[in-house]
Parts: sequence; structure tokens; C-alpha cells
Amino acid sequence: MDLEKIYKDCGALLEGHFLLSSGNHSKFYLQSAKVLEEPKRAELLAKELAKKIKESGLEIDSVCSPALGGVLAGYELARAIGVRFFFAERVDGVMTIRRGFEVKKGEKVLVCEDIITTGGSALEASEAIKNLGGEVVAFAALANRGFCSIFGSNKEAKKECKLPKDLPFFALGDFEFDIYSPSECPMCKEGKTKAYKPGSRGN
Ligand code: ZN
Repeated sequence: MDLEKIYKDCGALLEGHFLLSSGNHSKFYLQSAKVLEEPKRAELLAKELAKKIKESGLEIDSVCSPALGGVLAGYELARAIGVRFFFAERVDGVMTIRRGFEVKKGEKVLVCEDIITTGGSALEASEAIKNLGGEVVAFAALANRGFCSIFGSNKEAKKECKLPKDLPFFALGDFEFDIYSPSECPMCKEGKTKAYKPGSRGN
């Protein structure tokens, strides 16, 4: 599966001169939600991810996603695996499972995101699941930003990755981009374009 082509074709992977929320500049920008805009595409990606998880032989009772970003990916993944889905959300800054969702003692839960950067929200969701007696058995995402190590890959996780090293992390591929400080940005040096923040132009 050519993940980069899929993301590019639907406008989820933008190429240009971007200002990131960190203040740094980049030639690429991910609008992860765009890739799930088309239910057929979401289904295709989730089925591919489910295949990898099934092939590993891992047993899963349910999928949980941190809201909002992970919900569509997690729901489609749960459908593809054939298990139930629930989500966690922040209440006063704390990742919480509410809305009547229950976690059984020892329930084997996979935490799913649309994209994993450092995995902070996924880790917070896993804490909420464990606090209710569930067992978090794996993490998954459609795409990985290159900080965490995908199950089966020999690339090591970078220090920024917050996912536990003893649990498998499944993803369809990596999107690893160079990030520049404004003073070192090659696009700025070229001087033809100004960095802009996607979203600030209504996109
Ligand atoms: Zn720049």
C-alpha cells in the first residue's frame, strides 16, 4: 500500500512552505483528518491495519481512541477487526472514559489514533483504561510521524516517543519530515515563499 500517495491524492499530505505550531518551518504538512473524509478510503486503510494486527496473532476485545482525532480511525479499525469501539476524551484536561462506556476487568484493549506523533494522547487514554481495570495490549495508528517504532520494523523509537516499549505499535507507514528553525529554513533562504500555517487560510 502506497500510504504517501493515498495521503497526497486526498490532500492529507501537503507540500509547500509551512509554519508549524512549534514555530518551526517544514516542507510538508499533514492534515490527517482529510484521509478519513471518504468512508471508502477509511475502510480500506482500516482493513489493511486490521490485517497486520490479525497476522500478529494478538487477541483484542475492543478498540479505544482518544477523541477527537482518533475516533474515526479507531471506529473503522474496530469494524474491520470485528470488536466493539469506545472513546476517551479530555474532561478538565484529564483523559476520561464516560458517556456510559464500560471497561471490563481484564478486557484486552487496543488504543488507536489516526496518527501517532509522540503518542501522548494515546498513552493518556491507556491510563484511563487501566484505571478501570482494562488491559492495554497494543497501540495502533494509520500513520507514524517517525518518533515511535512500528511493530516489525527495525527502526528504533526516538526519545520523544511516549508509547511503552513492551507493547506492539501497529501502523501502515512513516511520515518523517525535516523540520527547520526559521533562521535555518532552506525555503526561507530561497526567499520565494513565506511560511504559512495551514488552517489560517480556511484550509
Ligand atoms: Zn521557512
